[in-house]
Amino acid sequence: GMRERREKLLELNKQAARTFHKWLYAPEGAEGLAYLQKRGLSRSTLTNFGLGFAPNSWDALIQALADQGYDKRDLLDAGLAVNNKDGRIYDRFRNRVMFPIIDVRGNVIGFGGRVMDDSTPKYLNSPDTPVYNKSRNVFALNIAKTSKAGRVILTEGYMDTISLHQAGFDCAVASLGTSLTSEHAQLLARYFQEAIISYDGDGAGVAAAQRAIPLLEKAGLKVKVLRMQGAKDPDEFIKRFGREAFAKLLERSENQVDYRLAQIQKKYDLTDDGQKVAFLQEAAQLIASLSSAVEREIYGGHAAQTAGITPEAMAQEIKRAFSARL
Ligand code: ATP
Ligand code: MN
Ligand code: MN
Ligand code: MN
Repeated sequence: GMRERREKLLELNKQAARTFHKWLYAPEGAEGLAYLQKRGLSRSTLTNFGLGFAPNSWDALIQALADQGYDKRDLLDAGLAVNNKDGRIYDRFRNRVMFPIIDVRGNVIGFGGRVMDDSTPKYLNSPDTPVYNKSRNVFALNIAKTSKAGRVILTEGYMDTISLHQAGFDCAVASLGTSLTSEHAQLLARYFQEAIISYDGDGAGVAAAQRAIPLLEKAGLKVKVLRMQGAKDPDEFIKRFGREAFAKLLERSENQVDYRLAQIQKKYDLTDDGQKVAFLQEAAQLIASLSSAVEREIYGGHAAQTAGITPEAMAQEIKRAFSARL
């Protein structure tokens, strides 16, 4: 039945993860091990995350798992093998360092594989399978869920999350790309009260943070946004500036309303009166959408201070925007 099928695919994934991990320390994995070491990962990090290597071969995994009683159908169903046009079956992951994706119960449900040079695609991920649904799982939640931090640091990438863990931030997870779903948000809300978005500083990361904020809020999380300068993502930041510097950024991370006010402010030149009015009107729209009167007062005060007007004038503007919404 369905359940037996899922159990078999999970067992297969576990064997595949063991095999990739073993290959990392075998002669054929030397380049993979060197790559991960060059990226600063320690032996214990490689073990904790079960990282591995898929050799440069069309059927190394198919062969290795055939010896353990898994056939091509099983590997296809698990997304570990692919079918080409003329019916030949080959390993999906070849010549890549491998990141197992593990669910909260400890099951290996899928994989990501990274090339070791500039070729594309940089990352290849498992497709959705009977045991893996990418919009319902986040990377490293199996570890982060036991964190005592009480909050989750949400990153884009495998390396961001792994570097944060290695630096002692054991509450990091990755949404594996820039599209967080409401299911991801609900999953995180089961384990944490607060989420700190720590996406890449590029345009894609900023846009993704803006999309993630309402989803996380709707799931009931308090949302903050970490902004960094001088590095393109958390992995690079930690390597360049160290863990203490990242800890400071975390402490300085902004409430999502302040973050959005800052994003709005960027569009206007506040030394120009007309633009200042436009800024305050847009800020009032945002603040009027907050459900709590206390929050409307606090963030109204922040916007007023930014523009150099009185909190009373801003409160008037918010009231107007609030009535216009009704
Ligand atoms: P690295 O530091 O190894 O270069 P990164 O995590 O900084 O990787 P980004 O380009 O910022 O890479 O992408 C963030 C995440 O998005 C990746 O970790 C990966 O999960 C996913 N991703 C990136 N490129 C692809 C791709 N071509 N196909 C599928 N997923 C991808
Ligand atoms: Mn990115
Ligand atoms: Mn990176
Ligand atoms: Mn990145």
